[in-house]
Amino acid sequence: MRKETNMTTLQPERIVIIGGGFSGVMTAVNLARLARQPLELTLINQGPSLARGVAYGTRRREHLLNVAARNMSAFPDQADHFLQWLRTRSEYDPVPDHELRERFIPRMIYGDYLRGLQQQHLLSPLESVSVRTTFIEGEAVDVQLPGAGAVVLLADGGRVAADCVVLATGNEPPSGLPGSAELREHPAWIGNPWQPWESRLPAEGGTILLLGTGLTTVDVVITLRTLGWQGVIHAVSRNGWLPHSHFRGIEYPDFPPVGVDLAELGLKQLLALMEQHCARLRALGADPAIIVDKLRPHTQRIWQGFTREERLEFARHHAARWNVLRHRIAPEIHAQLVTAQLTGQLQIHAASIECVRADDRQVRVHLSGGKTLAGDLVINATGPNTKFTRTGSGLLQNLLRAGSIAPDDLDMGVRVAADHAVINRAGQRSEVIFALGPLLRGTLWETIAVPELRGQARRTAEALLRQPAAPAATQPPVMMEYMI
Ligand SMILES: Cc1cc2nc3c(=O)[nH]c(=O)nc-3n(C[C@H](O)[C@H](O)[C@H](O)COP(=O)(O)OP(=O)(O)OC[C@H]3O[C@@H](n4cnc5c(N)ncnc54)[C@H](O)[C@@H]3O)c2cc1C
Repeated sequence: MRKETNMTTLQPERIVIIGGGFSGVMTAVNLARLARQPLELTLINQGPSLARGVAYGTRRREHLLNVAARNMSAFPDQADHFLQWLRTRSEYDPVPDHELRERFIPRMIYGDYLRGLQQQHLLSPLESVSVRTTFIEGEAVDVQLPGAGAVVLLADGGRVAADCVVLATGNEPPSGLPGSAELREHPAWIGNPWQPWESRLPAEGGTILLLGTGLTTVDVVITLRTLGWQGVIHAVSRNGWLPHSHFRGIEYPDFPPVGVDLAELGLKQLLALMEQHCARLRALGADPAIIVDKLRPHTQRIWQGFTREERLEFARHHAARWNVLRHRIAPEIHAQLVTAQLTGQLQIHAASIECVRADDRQVRVHLSGGKTLAGDLVINATGPNTKFTRTGSGLLQNLLRAGSIAPDDLDMGVRVAADHAVINRAGQRSEVIFALGPLLRGTLWETIAVPELRGQARRTAEALLRQPAAPAATQPPVMMEYMI
């Protein structure tokens, strides 16, 4: 079923993509754009949010992108693609270009953009070669490798044969907490914050407890305020740090210092250099998070240059701080959090969560230091599971058991080669299975947001089609504007 190409390697004719969020759909869109020979694509997605995925499948308009519109193009080679698409919507007519670029658009509108790309490139393609796409709504539970190619098994017993398979399974729901298994049916417990919970709100005057103080907690607080809910919200995390706001930075050309290759420094020296420049920025009255933004183009290379011990040390001791500075939120969302704190509606606690227990109609959360909080609704917003071998995905567990994929050396995701081909348990590069997106966390560190994923989707498509990688598109300079 494979054809010889003029690159002397084999080009697949049948590709199955598992996962239909940004990563999966944009891999398919790039395949459709780049294919020079007929191709049969099958996109398997569990759940109704095809193209939108978890992040952009929200139906709530108050959930905004946390990246400014100018950096949300789905294509690495067309920097203004999303901005141009926004111009097709009349509601943005009165907004001048320079303002639209800096807007934090509702995530559901970004979902419309992705759905539109799916429609244009996969349902009514204009490309000259024939690319046929079949969409399956269902769960893929295994990928068997019978010699040549693969067979994807579906939960409903279906089977799909393929030459190559792409794993684009995305963000996993939070892992459980001690005691949470017994709470599954409890009316006050929400184990997956990305499922609708608004219909289960306690009466006004009740208490909502959010486990985590990251971006998901921010979503919940903003929705509660939008709904006009009047009760008290407690949010708990080890450090009690809420995400910072995007801000207008100053021009700071001194970092990275000329002639210094940040990827060569190693963790200790890099941290020392960052501290030094953060102190200089503070002295200038500027936000030291500018250093985090200036590191962004180098992060993946720095991460790959670290030893395993350095990566472990960073993940254990510095990642929490990094995350609050790196994953910032729209200023208007941040302002609402500040108001909620000032009025006492939102109370933040810095403590470790020891266990969760049912208590009649409430759920009690036991914290380090002997403190206990009780909630009429308790939402696990501790962030996606990051211990890969404990993945709740039956598909990934089956692949791990068969040795067709292996964890990276930090057990944060799947091990891959530079071209996104997975590396199996025996250490061999697969000719058949490829992966992208949040699954590559341990290999790349920065692999969650659109500015990285659009490049990955393109490179995965090029690798599948055995085409050479296009030169990386240069991003416009951003330092004087809101940071990404
Ligand atoms: C709440 C939230 C908000 C975010 N906001 C932003 C933002 O503003 N800007 C930004 O750049 N990034 C944002 N992100 C980051 C986000 O991770 C990426 O932008 C992107 O959406 C990830 O897409 P994905 O396709 O890799 O994963 P997902 O969106 O998680 O999609 C994976 C899909 O695969 C399906 N799937 C999984 N396993 C199987 C299986 N076995 N069989 C079939 N289907 C399966 C899932 O059901 C899902 O539909 C946000 C993330 C979250 C969670």
